[in-house]
Amino acid sequence: MHNSKSLFINISFTFISSWIQTGDRLIEPLFVWVYAFFVVGITMAFFASRTVRAGQLLGARLRAASPLTAAAAASASRVRDTAELAAAEAGPQQNKKEFAFAAITACVGAAAFFSAWGPGYSSQPVLLQEAPKGALDPNTWIHFKLEKIEQLSHNTKMLRFGFDDANAVSGLSVASCLLTRARIGNEGKDGKPNYVIRPYTPVTSPDVKGYFDLVVKIYPEGKMTQHMAKLGVGDTLEVKGPLPKIPYSPNMKRHIGMVAGGTGITPMFQVIDAILSNESDMTQISLVYANVSPDDILLKKTLDDLAASHPNFKVFYVVNNPTANWKGGVGFTTYDTIVKALPPPSDDTLILVCGPPGMMKAISGDKESPKNQGELTGLLKSAGYSEHQVFKF
Ligand SMILES: Cc1cc2nc3c(=O)[nH]c(=O)nc-3n(C[C@H](O)[C@H](O)[C@H](O)COP(=O)(O)OP(=O)(O)OC[C@H]3O[C@@H](n4cnc5c(N)ncnc54)[C@H](O)[C@@H]3O)c2cc1C
Repeated sequence: MHNSKSLFINISFTFISSWIQTGDRLIEPLFVWVYAFFVVGITMAFFASRTVRAGQLLGARLRAASPLTAAAAASASRVRDTAELAAAEAGPQQNKKEFAFAAITACVGAAAFFSAWGPGYSSQPVLLQEAPKGALDPNTWIHFKLEKIEQLSHNTKMLRFGFDDANAVSGLSVASCLLTRARIGNEGKDGKPNYVIRPYTPVTSPDVKGYFDLVVKIYPEGKMTQHMAKLGVGDTLEVKGPLPKIPYSPNMKRHIGMVAGGTGITPMFQVIDAILSNESDMTQISLVYANVSPDDILLKKTLDDLAASHPNFKVFYVVNNPTANWKGGVGFTTYDTIVKALPPPSDDTLILVCGPPGMMKAISGDKESPKNQGELTGLLKSAGYSEHQVFKF
């Protein structure tokens, strides 16, 4: 590009950019980027012109030194493209001017860029859609207001917690959980009850705005769940998160098997929802879901509806205390159930396990700690799965 033209365009962008700084902030980021390209472009054109000019001077000196090298230099100069020649012809005086212009416009460009993207930048661009804000913070306990309570079964509730910003998302990824805390423990040194902290897995998709839902089983002697059971609409609960578990990405495995017990369905549900709500995710899912009685099965209608409408999702229920017309498995989850209902061991499959300690011990062996999966034992080990084919929530 001819330098004077590019300088003209560049200066125009300086003015447009300045106007955008104080005017229409909606289109500002797009222009700042375009402007940045021009600053880079003009600076490169300037250095190109200097290089060609240096080549031209060298050629002249060579021509003066010997007729042979003069012929070589002349033939080399013929292959230069026209743009380079134009820049070379501009001469030293023009180069100085270009340098001044390039330096000024580069400074103005840098200032425009810094003021738009540096500290204090506060516009809300809509052309370049920003990701919605995450309401949770992994480092800060935040009070969330209870907005809705739904009794799902005789001992399980769905609790909906709302965000101050109705357009914010939770910020949870699949699969991750959050922590709750409340002062309900024994009296601490400060004379107040100590905090009780418990993890829970929201069953709301990460892209849902304005709230998250917890499905909570209330234990008669449970510290946190008794506290939650007493919360009314308008009360708050302190929450921190997310705490990432296993990062799920679409089609990362051909077939995912799941063994869940009781409220262990909640992390499974996150993964199931992520797969089935994404049409381009072809993952097969086989869920074995164990409970004490049919009444205890959480989210049963939702799971049955999903199985009916998605051929890649199969669910098999197991209960200890069946009713007369019960059609699923009876007793505990057995070796036979594992072998028949889950995908066979392979590097293309993954088995997820979550449930009460007794079930974990029998199926996969318990986790050693939140960050240590512990040894793989139990029915999954007997069925031939290896440690990297199993994840314990
Ligand atoms: C990653 C993760 C995610 C979880 N997500 C959920 C969730 O979405 N919904 C949910 O309801 N729970 C979930 N839990 C379990 C939850 O964190 C608590 O352990 C549970 O709510 C009991 O807490 P509590 O303070 O009321 O009971 P505690 O005071 O800790 O225990 C009281 C009594 O209940 C028994 N008990 C405690 N937890 C269990 C259990 N899981 N199974 C069987 N008996 C138990 C104890 O043996 C004890 O007798 C999750 C746990 C983990 C590790």
